[in-house]
Amino acid sequence: MSEKTIPYKIYLEENEMPKQWYNVRADMKNKPAPLMNPATHKPMTIEELSQVFCTELAAQELDDTTPYIDIPQEISDFYKMYRPSPLVRAYCLEKALGTPAKIYYKFEGNNTSGSHKLNSAIAQAYYAKKQGLKGVTTETGAGQWGTALSMACAYLGLDCDVYMVKCSYEQKPFRREVMRTYGANVTPSPSNKTAVGRKILEEFPGTTGSLGCAISEAVEAATTREGYRYVLGSVLSQVLLHQSVIGLETMTACDKYGINPDIIIGCAGGGSNLGGLISPFMGRKLRGEADYKFIAVEPASCPSLTRGKYAYDFCDTGMVCPLQKMYTLGSGFIPSANHAGGLRYHGMSGVVSQLYDDGLIDAVSVEQTSVFAAAQKFARIEGILPAPESSHAIKVAIDEAMKCKETDEEKTIVFGLTGTGYFDMVAYQKFNDGEMSDYIPTDEEIAKSLAKLPKIN
Ligand SMILES: *Cc1c(COP(=O)(O)O)cnc(C)c1O
Repeated sequence: MSEKTIPYKIYLEENEMPKQWYNVRADMKNKPAPLMNPATHKPMTIEELSQVFCTELAAQELDDTTPYIDIPQEISDFYKMYRPSPLVRAYCLEKALGTPAKIYYKFEGNNTSGSHKLNSAIAQAYYAKKQGLKGVTTETGAGQWGTALSMACAYLGLDCDVYMVKCSYEQKPFRREVMRTYGANVTPSPSNKTAVGRKILEEFPGTTGSLGCAISEAVEAATTREGYRYVLGSVLSQVLLHQSVIGLETMTACDKYGINPDIIIGCAGGGSNLGGLISPFMGRKLRGEADYKFIAVEPASCPSLTRGKYAYDFCDTGMVCPLQKMYTLGSGFIPSANHAGGLRYHGMSGVVSQLYDDGLIDAVSVEQTSVFAAAQKFARIEGILPAPESSHAIKVAIDEAMKCKETDEEKTIVFGLTGTGYFDMVAYQKFNDGEMSDYIPTDEEIAKSLAKLPKIN
């Protein structure tokens, strides 16, 4: 197919939309290590997991063998409200960079929650509803996940209790109000609503909270009340499964127009958008059908893949969640106070961790001032105001395109543009005022945090 027939923005037709999610674990030779019970150090059974998660989601979490899982009709119907998301050729950026590379981005910011998180929020809320539950509990940091889940719960008529990291609750009042508009109960964490919250407050009075701590509170709020389960917006294998819709749409669009990506780039917080975007392409690579270079981009201030350890660790500060083997900085790791935007989780998806450990994914870390410089450039050239998280991928896509310019190579680069940055203007303001700085944790700081990893043989 000739260049000219490729639209500037590729939207799939309705009959081209994925009808099944793709489970990359089915094609992985080395499966991610099993979740472990924190008390017994034995692999979590479906019964144990079902006390925390909806039963069907617990089954998806443990399913390492089924390659394709049907997307229920109700979820497909919801997806239709904001999907397909466009695969956009960044012509203006290519021109501004003077690169022979072709740059495409898959844009997930075209829904009110402003990010890809809605893809899994609706799936998790659906299975909760189907199980006859009253509601779900969760944590949110920057607020995108809480917003996405609020939207999904409003649609299905479920209660939605969100524990929001206290500093975000105070710094992002508009995010909070969006969630409340969709009917969620939003509690700043740590709170005195839960035993674990009260304990943390006693130990660290005046703490502004952390994701790990909010997770502990949300899990407690789910497991101590009838009719509630806990849901999580990233890290888990089930979330990567739901997010595979991003990669499946991207692959169908690429195949339809004869686009052959050489490099696929995603930002990595807990690994869900990256995992979702690359999954179907990784499947081809694992089956020996094609080859791609995958790049995970993480903040230099929270470098779990590039400087963490591959080990079993707690997913939360309260140490109530199952243990997961992952690249981690230690569950007590909290990025420095000047870290501005998202991607602040101490660990990484078990699937992404295993793929990285097997050398199938590359990872780089970038400093936030360079990320915001890339974000500003992208906004001015391509028009979209990107989320700081997404801008990590933009930064590395630009770097790769500039390498192509040096070597005069016409590579095709695809990156995930996970969301918009309208609620991140305090961080943008800091950058615009020249007041943003970088902090890279020292080896000693990381070692100190890793020393507290659980001892598992
Ligand atoms: C949550 C979020 C991320 C990071 O989460 P992953 O699970 O690593 O995908 C990235 N971008 C945006 C816009 C987000 O909201």
